[in-house]
Amino acid sequence: DREQAAYTDNHPRSRALFEEAGNLFGRVPMTWMNMWSGGFPLYLDRATGNRVTDVDGHTYVDFALGDTGAMAGHSPAATVAAVQGRAGDLGGITTMLPTADAQWVGAELERRFGMPLWSFTLSATDANRWAIRLARLATGRPKVLVFAYCYHGSVDEAFALPGPDGKAQSRPGNVAPPVDLAVTTRVATWNDLASVEAALAHGDVAAILTEPALTNIGIVLPDEGFLSGLRELATRHGALLMIDETHTFSAGWGGATREWALEPDIFVIGKSIGGGIPCGAYGISREVADAITRHTDAGDADIVDVGGVGGTLAGNALSTAAMRATLGEVLTEPAFSHMTELATTFTAGVQATLDEFEVPWSVSQLGARAEYRFARPAPRSGEESAAAADDVLDAYLHLALCNRGILMTPFHNMALMCPETSRADVDLHTATFREVVGALYA
Ligand code: PLP
Repeated sequence: DREQAAYTDNHPRSRALFEEAGNLFGRVPMTWMNMWSGGFPLYLDRATGNRVTDVDGHTYVDFALGDTGAMAGHSPAATVAAVQGRAGDLGGITTMLPTADAQWVGAELERRFGMPLWSFTLSATDANRWAIRLARLATGRPKVLVFAYCYHGSVDEAFALPGPDGKAQSRPGNVAPPVDLAVTTRVATWNDLASVEAALAHGDVAAILTEPALTNIGIVLPDEGFLSGLRELATRHGALLMIDETHTFSAGWGGATREWALEPDIFVIGKSIGGGIPCGAYGISREVADAITRHTDAGDADIVDVGGVGGTLAGNALSTAAMRATLGEVLTEPAFSHMTELATTFTAGVQATLDEFEVPWSVSQLGARAEYRFARPAPRSGEESAAAADDVLDAYLHLALCNRGILMTPFHNMALMCPETSRADVDLHTATFREVVGALYA
């Protein structure tokens, strides 16, 4: 209650804007913003590097970084310059003509992630949707195998949990799915290869769609052998392996795919690679491309055509210029070393407090990113991690840190480092986390 009162007292302008906004659907750009822990969200005034300033004049050390969309920092100089050039002197933001930048970005994505053939989108959600369609086309199979609580954007197929009969059903909060998800989806449990094999045995799965680690229900890391097991099972059962690295790109310069030597058939990424400008991309292997060509040439009426894949603004010149600058000059190998080292320090700082006060929580790290979870040892599946959720603790931590100048992701306790994050910023979190957790457990 004390943290709530401090938040309300200190943010009169944010509160007034929220109250004035009564005529917007849900008042805010996305309805979840209504559920911000303090009763109203902070309204943005400006942001640069890893600092965000709200309309009441408070500046925060930002570890939320736009839920990873700003992993390159807010408005990185190289990205801003490239975007200004394209929006200004060069012009031609949307022409439906390819640019040399797109060529460069495709080659760079291949260098980092290994897939030879790339297409662009405007979001990771689009990339997943279109890649799922291509997986169906390449295999002639209808279903996607997803993991419980693994999020892939607003993708109908992926918003599923197993129902009482074991068949996929819509996850709570997934509004109005267009079809019964049992028709399009099978659901397995993370770190449980037997559940994957049972789902694949039906012979109707086009692709296993997964993140290399779960990142939207806390960070849940893969057990040794789990990801190689997925690769092996996919091949054995004629399904494609589709890896979504939209968040796990935090693992390193070439994502978890490079760090852990994964061999996907289809690769999806979005968010941070454009430095905050809307973007997304998916890559496919030559084998998948060949299968698509065979199916389209055969003119098989049961299989969807490549129509339904693409969009007017996909890969527009502004987006590709932003990706080129961000990948070429901001999210570089030295930047990842810096960010990962800081995330290691962040993780150690959290662990020290948990140990000191004997708090039954855990903290997990994936490269430049860390997250604490209210269970110890760390959960091993989406189901276990969901069972450890605690809305009251989430709200307390979010508000208490916010009131002390630290911005975390609402609803979960993710912290991400960007190139501008400093050791002093991490030390501030360590000291503040000790203070606010100590107030509960000392
Ligand atoms: N894939 C993963 C792993 C994500 O976490 C998200 C969003 O959080 C998406 C895809 C969708 O990204 P977007 O909402 O930018 O389309």
